[in-house]
Amino acid sequence: MSDSPSAPKKIVTCPQCKGDSVYAPRNPYRPFCSERCKNLDLGAWASESFRVAAPEQMEDDSPPQQLQ
Ligand SMILES: [Zn+2]
Repeated sequence: MSDSPSAPKKIVTCPQCKGDSVYAPRNPYRPFCSERCKNLDLGAWASESFRVAAPEQMEDDSPPQQLQ
C-alpha cells in the first residue's frame, strides 16, 4: 500500500499486451505501454480491414440432400 500524493500514477491496461501501462504525459504511447504495442495495434487494425475486404471462399460442392 503506497500513498504518495506528490506523484500520482495512473496505471491502465495496455490494449495490446494487457500489461500495465502508465497513463501519464511521460508515456506518449498511452494508453499503450510502449511504441511497440501501439504499432502492433495499428498493424492489427490494418490487417483486420484487409481480411474484411478479402472475398470469402466457400467450398460447397456437395450434392443437395434428397428426401423421399
Ligand atoms: Zn503493451
